[in-house]
Amino acid sequence: MLNLVLFGPPGAGKGTQSERLISKYNLVHLSTGDIFRANIKGGTELGVLAKSYIDKGQLVPDEVTINMLKAEVMKYEAPNGFIFDGFPRTNAQAAALDEFLTSINSAITAMISLDVEEEELKARLANRAKDSGRADDADPEVIQNRINVYRKETAPVKDYYQAQNKWIKIDGQGNIDEITHRLYNAIDEL
Ligand code: ADP
Repeated sequence: MLNLVLFGPPGAGKGTQSERLISKYNLVHLSTGDIFRANIKGGTELGVLAKSYIDKGQLVPDEVTINMLKAEVMKYEAPNGFIFDGFPRTNAQAAALDEFLTSINSAITAMISLDVEEEELKARLANRAKDSGRADDADPEVIQNRINVYRKETAPVKDYYQAQNKWIKIDGQGNIDEITHRLYNAIDEL
């Protein structure tokens, strides 16, 4: 299996690039943000809980997120692999993911970081807010909080994979096709 963690701050382009990678490598795209939003839309219990955190730019608690992710992975029979987008976002999630994948005889192949400057991130999120309808993109204070949470809790997850020699950094600025090709090149070398 080819299991990739696509990593980067809010607005780094994980969703956009995931769409391209899943068709090229025949992978399943699991975005915890998308799954939470689907639950919010469907008015599920999980959605109501998640919304209370997401609207403030906070992380949904680890236990809730980890259980949801596991259930999602188990929905697929004999997949080629997964792109984990927006997960893991804490070291506890990374450790839980390793333990879970080991239990199903699998593992993370690599974590790929999309590297983007903060000013560029803010501009992209403000732009996305115009048509995403996402409340968490519309409010600069919430955006700033997401960036702060990213720095404090999520950025260290990189060290977790770097310690396993699984970390790859890709320049996430420039045109979308160029970035896609950087990703293809990195993945083809795995
Ligand atoms: P972005 O990366 O652009 O901030 P996402 O769609 O990945 O957007 O996530 C939106 C929100 O969903 C996050 O701000 C957070 O509240 C919640 N969320 C997504 N993934 C996780 C996760 N792995 N752990 C905890 N909360 C999460």
